[in-house]
Amino acid sequence: MDGIRVGKRIVGTQSPVTIGWENIPKVEGGPFKRLFFTWFQPAVFFGMIAFWYYAPNSIAKASTAIGIGIGFRVLLQILELTNPRHESWRITWKELATDLFYVGVSYTMVNLAENYIGSDVAIEALQSGLHLEKFAWFTGLPLLVQAFLILFIFDFGQYWMHRGMHNWYPLWLPHSVHHYITQLNVHKGAVGNPVELFLIGLGIGGLFDFLPRAFLLAGAIGMSVGAYQHINVRFNSPRWWRWAFNTTEHHSLHHSQDFESTRSNYANTFIFIDRMFGTCIDGEAELLGMEGGRRMSIREQMLYPFTEGWKAYKERKTREPFFDDHSAVPAE
Ligand SMILES: [Zn+2]
Ligand SMILES: [Zn+2]
Repeated sequence: MDGIRVGKRIVGTQSPVTIGWENIPKVEGGPFKRLFFTWFQPAVFFGMIAFWYYAPNSIAKASTAIGIGIGFRVLLQILELTNPRHESWRITWKELATDLFYVGVSYTMVNLAENYIGSDVAIEALQSGLHLEKFAWFTGLPLLVQAFLILFIFDFGQYWMHRGMHNWYPLWLPHSVHHYITQLNVHKGAVGNPVELFLIGLGIGGLFDFLPRAFLLAGAIGMSVGAYQHINVRFNSPRWWRWAFNTTEHHSLHHSQDFESTRSNYANTFIFIDRMFGTCIDGEAELLGMEGGRRMSIREQMLYPFTEGWKAYKERKTREPFFDDHSAVPAE
């Protein structure tokens, strides 16, 4: 196939991707604007940590976290409207309606399912069945260490689940729907088949005991990093941020129309997990989606894993493994 060679990667002319931080455009404009888009992410990040670390118990409640989460979403939505990263990703009423439908689904259906049949419940049942205590030694650790561990344990599990989804057809089916999105916006993290949203929420976190405050801190840190995974805003993220955390840039590559690029950047919060396992690619993409950016209706998003799975089953021949688990970088 014809394409241009960028560094070690072949970049198809049909689905261009940009590889390497030095090739990614910076925020342009006056000094205030550049300062704002350089320091916004770290300021929110450290502000959130300080708030949840020092807030008195009367304020440090789940309801406060939900309120902050909604306010933050609205603020980011305003940034997207005033400073879109790509005009082609600009939100439309149709996109917004779909997104909000899924935000509603993830807050209700998926949460319900997690509560009744999720891994924490299964672990709980197993532990009481075997008369085991939870691993309680973590509650003695410093709060911030606990918060980091909560996030890391969850992210580590979700890294392998996500990577598995890209390498095993039965898991790819529910995940594929999320890869049909054609633009990134603040709500797009919720868009996908509910079966996938449930699978990605599984984890071994239920094995461990942490202080309630540590969960609130972890939630706040997770939010102030994860919010940028799907967002149509350009930031001049500091170098340490891009090294440690997943960014829009990383995740846009993961959603690109370039097949090899989608096989990278699986972690949710900590991109350094991808660096540990050699699946991180620093770069970005604007053209997103599957089948050349074909948009799915909500109805198709709901049914696709089942109709496709049924088709594959009917064909009766084992397909070639949909994806083979070679490294994200093609062999030289
Ligand atoms: Zn994926
Ligand atoms: Zn995504």
